[in-house]
Amino acid sequence: MNIGDKIIDGKAIADAMKKEIAAEVAGMLDKGMDAPHLAAVIVGEDGASKTYVASKEKACQSVGMTSSVYRLPEKTTEEELLNLINFLNNDEEIDGYIIQLPLPKHINETKVIHSINPKKDVDGFTPHNIGLMQLGEPSFLPATPAGIMELLKRSGIETAGKRVVVLGRSNIVGTPISVMLSRKGADATVTICHSKTENLPEITRQADILVVAIGKPKFLKADMVKPGAVVIDVGIHRIEDKTTEKGYRIEGDVDFDEVIKVASKITPVPGGVGPMTIVELLYNTLQAKKRR
Ligand code: NAP
Repeated sequence: MNIGDKIIDGKAIADAMKKEIAAEVAGMLDKGMDAPHLAAVIVGEDGASKTYVASKEKACQSVGMTSSVYRLPEKTTEEELLNLINFLNNDEEIDGYIIQLPLPKHINETKVIHSINPKKDVDGFTPHNIGLMQLGEPSFLPATPAGIMELLKRSGIETAGKRVVVLGRSNIVGTPISVMLSRKGADATVTICHSKTENLPEITRQADILVVAIGKPKFLKADMVKPGAVVIDVGIHRIEDKTTEKGYRIEGDVDFDEVIKVASKITPVPGGVGPMTIVELLYNTLQAKKRR
């Protein structure tokens, strides 16, 4: 197989979804409705968070949605943030909002997430939406795992009856993707691995589909992959690299150059899961508007 044919082009799939969302937004405007409105809250000066929020704003604009950003200083108190959340929960003009994580250490993240109105929780992080997802009922699905499901579907990758191994059990990626893949409809047989898993390579080598979300650059090597497996790389790492114009390059959790030789399909980093995450957030915002 040609190397290029192995690549799952997340950017192209995300662009196609953006066009679909833009058409729906245009349809709403034609009917005299307001555009869906996504708000983002960012507390402090975390560089990566600022980049993520800027790209979410840009994505909103590209599909005709309204976006607003609440930038709060690092020293913002928990009470001040909860007051803002209370405002966002009740503001008629805002359809959905996200609180960009991580928050500064003096703010209790759990308390903050629990305060988000589930009807506006377009990140799908509240216990209410996580519970609905677990039950297989309509909910806001967390964007990254929802994006992976859509990538698999639109790339024609069958999941029913397949052996899936998920590396990582975070609340935003590993755990929800294992729930989504094992539900009726997706019908995969899922194993979830974490830092206490023993004989990891032995388990990963059994996978027809590997989802890697462990937060360690180039962790998954070719000898951990069954020939012909599909590999989904969720990791994002900024690696200093003076040979590039920006002074850094982006790498995933998978040793791409080696693993592509054995995998049948693989997502690149950048241009794989990342663009899908943002587009799923737009999709959830559109749903939030429709439900209201
Ligand atoms: P996380 O919260 O850091 O969780 C990492 C998980 O990997 C944990 O469950 C941990 O196990 C497990 N782990 C760590 N070392 C391991 C090892 N040696 N063997 C097996 N399991 C191990 O990570 P996350 O938030 O899910 O993010 C994972 C990566 O995806 C990061 O690079 C992040 O930047 C990226 N990400 C990308 C997107 C996107 O849009 N593409 C979105 C979110 C995250 P324990 O539970 O036992 O500690």
